[in-house]
Amino acid sequence: MKVAVYGKGGIGKSTTSCNISIALARRGKRILQIGCDPKHDSTFTLTGFLIPTIIDTPQSKDYHYEDVWPEDVIHRGYGGVDCVEAGGPPAGAGCGGYVVGETVKSLKESNAFYEYDIILFDVLGDVVCGGFAAPLNYADYCIIITDNGFDALFAANRIAASVREKAHTHPLRLAGLVGNRTSERDLINKYVEACPMPVLEVLPLVEDIRVSRVKGKTLFEMAEGQPNLNFVCDFYSNIADQILSKPEGIVPREIPDRELFSLLSDF
Ligand code: ADP
Ligand code: MG
Repeated sequence: MKVAVYGKGGIGKSTTSCNISIALARRGKRILQIGCDPKHDSTFTLTGFLIPTIIDTPQSKDYHYEDVWPEDVIHRGYGGVDCVEAGGPPAGAGCGGYVVGETVKSLKESNAFYEYDIILFDVLGDVVCGGFAAPLNYADYCIIITDNGFDALFAANRIAASVREKAHTHPLRLAGLVGNRTSERDLINKYVEACPMPVLEVLPLVEDIRVSRVKGKTLFEMAEGQPNLNFVCDFYSNIADQILSKPEGIVPREIPDRELFSLLSDF
C-alpha cells in the first residue's frame, strides 16, 4: 500500500509521517518513508541525522550510477522504519516531480520499491503544481494534514482538487484530514461540512512534539523515557490503524476558491 501525506509547509507532515510510520512498523509491517520535500528533513527524527538524498548520492560517486547501492540511499531508522530522502532540484530550477520520479525509478530498479508493506510519501503541498502532485501517481491513499486556520485549509482544498484530478486515471482515494496543532476545530468542521471528507484525527499542540524535532527523536522514542507521552503516541497509532483497515476513502469535490474565502471568513 502507498500513502501520500500532503499539507502546507510547516504544518507537521514530517512529524506526523515519522510517528505514523513507527506505529505501522509496530503492527508488524515493513515500512519505507520517502521524504519528497526539498528540505530533506522528513526522516530526520527517525534516523537522527540528515541522510544523503537520492539526488546527491550519484554526485558523490562521480555519477557512476552502477556504484550506487540501495544501502547508500536507504537508511534504517528508529523502530525498523526504512528511510529515503528524495532531495530537491536546484533551487529555482528543475522540477520536484522529476526528482520524485527518479527516486521511485531507482528504488524500482533495485527492487526495493516492492519489498515493503507500506510506502509513505511525505510531500510538500502548498503549491500543487504538476510536479508536486507526482507522488499521487503512486499512491492508493492521500492524507492531508491541516490546522484549524485559513491557510492550511486553503492548501488542503487545493490538494483535494489534485486528488480528484488524479483519481480520474489512478486508483487513488483521499483517506481524510488530520487536524494538527489545534484544540479548536470549528473551521475544520465548517470545511468538511462543505467538502465532505473523513477527519481521521485531531492532535492538539503538544510542547513535547515541538521538542521532539529539536531532539531529533520521534514521540515513540521519547515516550520510552517519558511514559506520560504515550497518550500522544495513541493519536498516531489510531491514524495508523485506520490506514491498515484499508478505508474506502473518497474522491473529494473541492470548493471553488471564492466560496472557500467566504466560508472561512466572518466578513
Ligand atoms: P512539515 O513537515 O509539514 O514542514 P514538521 O513536521 O517539520 O512540518 O513540523 C514543523 C514543526 O512543528 C516542527 O518543529 C514540529 O516539531 C512541530 N509540530 C508538529 N506537530 C506539532 C504538534 N501537534 N504540537 C506541537 N508542535 C508540533
Ligand atoms: Mg517536512
